[in-house]
Amino acid sequence: MDKEMREYFLTKCYNWYLEEEIIALRRFSLTAYGEETTRKNAKVSKKMEASYGFQNEKINNIVALGLEHLQNKIANRLLKEHPELLNFCPKCNRLARTPKARQCRHCFHTWFDEPVKF
Ligand SMILES: [Zn+2]
Repeated sequence: MDKEMREYFLTKCYNWYLEEEIIALRRFSLTAYGEETTRKNAKVSKKMEASYGFQNEKINNIVALGLEHLQNKIANRLLKEHPELLNFCPKCNRLARTPKARQCRHCFHTWFDEPVKF
């Protein structure tokens, strides 16, 4: 998968992420200090534990492998499970900006008359 397609899946296809992927990404958004204090608060708040999954072994395993690994995993999973998300320009066949885009950012061709797939 090229860099453009990876970025496309990671920045434009959030609605197709799995819950465990979203929680793990939330963990990566915490700094070391934030993780420490949030972990303490999560011990008393069920809401916070649900949000960050500190006690969830599956989430902890994903987080332990690192952000880069998680992002590659998400992009590869979306390519395999949702190839329909890829929105190629009918004229130049390059990747559009988003799954719902109807104008090409490369050649400016438009295809507004075609129905949106999702
Ligand atoms: Zn185009």
